[in-house]
Amino acid sequence: MDFVEQLKSSVDIVNVVGEYVRLRRSGANRYMGLCPFHNEKTASFTVHAVHQFYKCFSCGAGGDVVKFVMEKEGLSFYEALKTMSERYGVPMPKRSQYADEDSKVRGSLLAMHEAAEENFRANLQSQIGEAARGYIARRGLAAETVEHFGLGYSDRSGRALVRLFGQRGFPVAQMEESGLVGKRQDGSLYDRFRNRLMFPIHNESGKIIGFGGRALSPDDEPKYLNSPETPIYKKSHVLYNLHRAKEAVRKEDRVILVEGYMDAIGVTAAGFRNVVASCGTALTAQQVQAMKRHADRIAVNFDPDAPGANAAQRSIDILLQEDIQVYVVELDGGLDPDEYCKERGATAYRNRVENAQSYIYWLADRARAKHDMRSTQGQIAVLEILVPAVQKIPDTLERLKLAIDVAGYVGVDQANQGAVLDAFKRAAVDRKEKLVESPASPLRHDERMLLNALCWEIRNCALK
Ligand SMILES: [Zn+2]
Repeated sequence: MDFVEQLKSSVDIVNVVGEYVRLRRSGANRYMGLCPFHNEKTASFTVHAVHQFYKCFSCGAGGDVVKFVMEKEGLSFYEALKTMSERYGVPMPKRSQYADEDSKVRGSLLAMHEAAEENFRANLQSQIGEAARGYIARRGLAAETVEHFGLGYSDRSGRALVRLFGQRGFPVAQMEESGLVGKRQDGSLYDRFRNRLMFPIHNESGKIIGFGGRALSPDDEPKYLNSPETPIYKKSHVLYNLHRAKEAVRKEDRVILVEGYMDAIGVTAAGFRNVVASCGTALTAQQVQAMKRHADRIAVNFDPDAPGANAAQRSIDILLQEDIQVYVVELDGGLDPDEYCKERGATAYRNRVENAQSYIYWLADRARAKHDMRSTQGQIAVLEILVPAVQKIPDTLERLKLAIDVAGYVGVDQANQGAVLDAFKRAAVDRKEKLVESPASPLRHDERMLLNALCWEIRNCALK
């Protein structure tokens, strides 16, 4: 039997696909889930257990288990076979007719990242890692946490990886392509990460594809340096810690989204395994889709400072567009998630996560803090911020209930009732015109209902 056949007969497509998509049984041999190749709200993606194929009835994606792994991980045929042979323990013949140039390069880059991680880890345990160990101790990370997250230290010389890769025979072009090595104008090579605490970044199948490095000297800028984009590292697609978190995310049907490596590590160490970090980049639609494949609910827990709050607000916009239930975790005392877990303990943090309010109340508080709620203008401004956010709730009943809650929460003042209603009528007309430009939008009817509900609530409040 040819190796491909042998591999396909020894893995079950339901299990392989199930690592990426929550599948539900929908027939004797059929499973369904949300398609991982396009964005959808109702499942049209099926996997057939007997015939061992997948098919999406919306976007047309389909094929066998090898094709699935190729498409999902962006791998060549050869790489997909190799990945699966390693993951499922089906030995692959040594000489292989499938390797091509691209996959050889990606294979080399992955090997370089593994070698780099080993080097960083060894450094951390050696004499030169003292300052990094000091930082780890100050942040209160246990040895097993350091081990679990593969933390390391990049030395000061700026030559360690250049030398290591040279010894292992990687060509200069690949060293540069890895993003771990840079080239000066005079042609000499240097390690990109120097004197930093190193955080390996993995793809969803657990391969190291990049690093984040935290400066240990206050003079070193930036504080966090990340790998550049490379053939194996597409920043907009990657969430830190997702490969470890995804099982717990599914089990709890909730993902906790934090901002940085240290937050993800600190919260995990406190016993919450369903945490991922966006890591230095603004949240993208691809990252949200990656989370949505594992859970319906997301608890956003960014830093309590102003940049953190702004990042949270931007993230909420993306999350709502991708139709995921969003809750905002607020921590008191100006503590970030890592600090909160350490100072207040896991139970307090769990309480915060489980009692996190829907994003809309968080938005309302923010909007109220910015505007003078005693003035008509202020009340209108606040409602105008909230109406578009309420509209993004997919379910009509939920949306109306929330609209009424929000109007009450904002508390429109009796004296301004008329002016607020007028402003809303104008807003309704404006939006209707805007919506005519995009006839596919399903919001028009909902929007009217929503505005009516809001106005009704405002009127009721005023009559009380
Ligand atoms: Zn599809």
